[in-house]
Amino acid sequence: MQHDVELLILGGGCAGLSLAMQLAQHGQRAPSTLILEQRASYKNDRTWCFWGDAKTPFAQQAAHQWQTFKVVGAGQERRLDCSETPYRMLTAEQFYNAAAAALATVPQMRLKMESTVNSEPQLRQGRWHFETPEGAFSAASVVDTRPQRLPAQDGALLWQSFYGLEIACAQPVFEPSCVELMNFSAATPERVAFTYVLPLSSTRALVEFTVFAVAPFTSDALALDLQSAIAQRVKGAAFTVLRSEQGVLPMGLAGLQATGPSADPAYVRVGLFAGAARPATGYAFQRIQRWAADCGRAMANGGSPIGHPQEPALRGWMDTVFLNVVRRQPELAPQLFMALFSGVASQRVIRFLGESARLSDFVAMVWALPHRPFLRQLFSLPRSL
Ligand SMILES: Cc1cc2nc3c(=O)[nH]c(=O)nc-3n(C[C@H](O)[C@H](O)[C@H](O)COP(=O)(O)OP(=O)(O)OC[C@H]3O[C@@H](n4cnc5c(N)ncnc54)[C@H](O)[C@@H]3O)c2cc1C
Repeated sequence: MQHDVELLILGGGCAGLSLAMQLAQHGQRAPSTLILEQRASYKNDRTWCFWGDAKTPFAQQAAHQWQTFKVVGAGQERRLDCSETPYRMLTAEQFYNAAAAALATVPQMRLKMESTVNSEPQLRQGRWHFETPEGAFSAASVVDTRPQRLPAQDGALLWQSFYGLEIACAQPVFEPSCVELMNFSAATPERVAFTYVLPLSSTRALVEFTVFAVAPFTSDALALDLQSAIAQRVKGAAFTVLRSEQGVLPMGLAGLQATGPSADPAYVRVGLFAGAARPATGYAFQRIQRWAADCGRAMANGGSPIGHPQEPALRGWMDTVFLNVVRRQPELAPQLFMALFSGVASQRVIRFLGESARLSDFVAMVWALPHRPFLRQLFSLPRSL
């Protein structure tokens, strides 16, 4: 049987469902939409964190928020106040439930689970056609959020790999009011590594071990480091594992492919592997929300879908230079991050991470960083994003 819709969204994860939620807000003006998702059901498989004031998308639904975070490395500890834009955590479960509730209000929009799309789409008479094991689909517009296959070595300037466990400890060992954003391990020439801790109470936390390197790391390769990071924090107390999360994020995509199989503007690629993530940090959630709002508005007004916007020139350039320095000298990273967090007012760093940096923030950051590795990078051939 052939299913014909105005919009086909391939992949019902963060980007696909964020767009669906935005379109659902337009009610009857939303195009008839089918979301094809390969998973059989949603699990609480991740947490999305972001800095934001009360008006930031999903700020009110966040399960936790913190007013302070700390960074530890190069023999220093620095605590920063983020009460103006608290660090907030949304669970995947909350997000998927919100999407299901939004879709239930719009009869012309439908999510189909256990639908894997691996076939090459065909453009015939102005419509995109897909064959799947569940049948044939055609659509006037396609938003493709499926991860693209990138070469492990050179697909990105760096890869961010992480493995985390949410644990419940028999004794109070965590400081619930303060996120441990980056606690650097001893630096090596191969990788930058740090532990990230989201304390959910004095006895419960998500503890993650993260690596930036030129190639991805599997969670097996990170397991020993994660165990020792947990051991350092629980100090011998008994604990149980509640759930795990893991990921591999490209930082600075080498060849960004944001268009579809042809130059047809009605087919766009979006999501983590098509420019959703901030190159220098891997944070993508709020960028996806901004894109989804813009794309949803354009489509509700009868336009074509739109992809992620290009990085603004100055920020894109700074991210490229920074990633190249870390790629070339990973052992410098703890010192660089500590210089940033110690030498620049916390609100400036947060604006930079949250993408609302002003020119004065950029200047303050450049000034705070040790100049020599950056000058050396500037006078060598940079690998571009
Ligand atoms: C564990 C984890 C934690 C993260 N935490 C943060 C965070 O705290 N803050 C932040 O800003 N960013 C975070 N990120 C980065 C980013 O926000 C997420 O990766 C986000 O989910 C990216 O959205 P996406 O839609 O591109 O990918 P996904 O959410 O992974 O969605 C892609 C969807 O496509 C489906 N799919 C794949 N192939 C097919 C196919 N062939 N046919 C049909 N469907 C298919 C998948 O099942 C999936 O549902 C995190 C990433 C991970 C992995």
